[in-house]
Amino acid sequence: MGIASTVNYKKLVLPTVGEKITKNPDGSLNVPNKPIIPFIEGDGIGPDLTHAMKIAIDGAVKKAYGGEREIVWFEILAGEKAHKAEGEWLPADTLTAIKDYLVAIKGPLTTPVGGGIRSLNVTLRQVLDLYACVRPVRHFPGVPSPVCEPDKLNVVIYRENTEDVYAGIEWSSNSPEANQLIKYIKDNFGKEIRPESGIGIKPISPLGTKRIVRAAIKYALENNRTSVTIVHKGNIMKYTEGAFRDWAYEVAKDEFRDRIVTEQEVFDDFGGKTPEGKLLVKDRIADSMFQQVLLRPDEYDVLVTPNLNGDYLSDACAAQVGGLGMAPGANIGEFGAIFEATHGTAPKYAGMDVSNPGSLILSAKMMLDHLGWREAAELIDRGIVKTLENKTVTYDLERQMPGATKVKCSEFAKLIVQNM
Ligand code: NAP
Repeated sequence: MGIASTVNYKKLVLPTVGEKITKNPDGSLNVPNKPIIPFIEGDGIGPDLTHAMKIAIDGAVKKAYGGEREIVWFEILAGEKAHKAEGEWLPADTLTAIKDYLVAIKGPLTTPVGGGIRSLNVTLRQVLDLYACVRPVRHFPGVPSPVCEPDKLNVVIYRENTEDVYAGIEWSSNSPEANQLIKYIKDNFGKEIRPESGIGIKPISPLGTKRIVRAAIKYALENNRTSVTIVHKGNIMKYTEGAFRDWAYEVAKDEFRDRIVTEQEVFDDFGGKTPEGKLLVKDRIADSMFQQVLLRPDEYDVLVTPNLNGDYLSDACAAQVGGLGMAPGANIGEFGAIFEATHGTAPKYAGMDVSNPGSLILSAKMMLDHLGWREAAELIDRGIVKTLENKTVTYDLERQMPGATKVKCSEFAKLIVQNM
């Protein structure tokens, strides 16, 4: 029997089976054998991908636990489906359910153009304070890539999700606010800004920085990763990006002193060699980092970045291993986690069952890891690797892989289960 929710919903009818995931006092998750997981189907190709994702995940969970564990899927609405059903793009019930059930997964959502509606994805991240955008990037054998040795890149990017120029504090050229600010800055600080400039504000705080860096270091330690690299543009933006670097080192030294070593310490005290069992913490200027991922990719592991650097870097890294089609993502905060495909709704393929569900399936694999269901997560990996090895792939990969066989979106998911 399901546990009755203590939360009031306006319209959502809750599942009658399954149980809620709860949080332990130390912040870890208490995951029942039949957890209720809310999902947003998504717009455009979203329904096709979600259908395929459930085939793969249910298959992996069944194979791993033989029926003892099972996900109870619970649909919540957002985007076009919500607008059609309820006249709202993002119903309050949807936000409540994600907070209530702690872990959710979503397909891509259309950002309605015009009408003053903000991106639903950005809104979800900000309203739920999902401050960590986590993007693992690795190459799957057989996936076409623009570089010679794509296997050398295997990084997990922790991108800060709530601050920086993404905070949405900006005013257009010649607006009263922009003009007022230009005057204020000249009158009070003696700094000239060219007339008619648009103005954007770039806030980066110790709180915002420290929590993303803490999450990145914890992840690196728990998953035996070898290094965490702080990526910043502190040589130019000293009090935002430079402060990000300084606060990042502070967290590393204040909270993880006995488990980390900085690059400086490695050179000063250990003859240039990282001591056994220590996590190396280093930093790189953002522009150099873009060169490093191409030239010396195997020297990097977990990367932690402010919002804008992380946006560019995660897509650039994804391109290096074959594009967004196979790149998963998650947005994680104290109040919950949403796992999501990193590409958009590709509306021209909606309902055709042809798109590549790899990104959403790998995001769901991250979700299984987040739940601690590692055996099922490993089966997903194994199934994907074998399916790619067999060159039975969706149209986007088939057109770049000589000798490949084109399969539908749902067939690709079924093959993953067969190949686990
Ligand atoms: P897009 O939906 O990612 O699609 C661009 C192209 O990428 C597609 O035409 C297709 O290329 C390829 N593609 C994307 N996903 C694919 C998949 N799963 N399998 C195979 N190919 C795939 O980008 P967009 O056209 O710029 O955006 C469309 C809508 O999505 C917009 O409303 C945008 O706001 C929204 N969006 C949402 C999210 C999100 O929810 N997180 C993210 C980005 C964009 P080919 O035509 O070459 O085959």
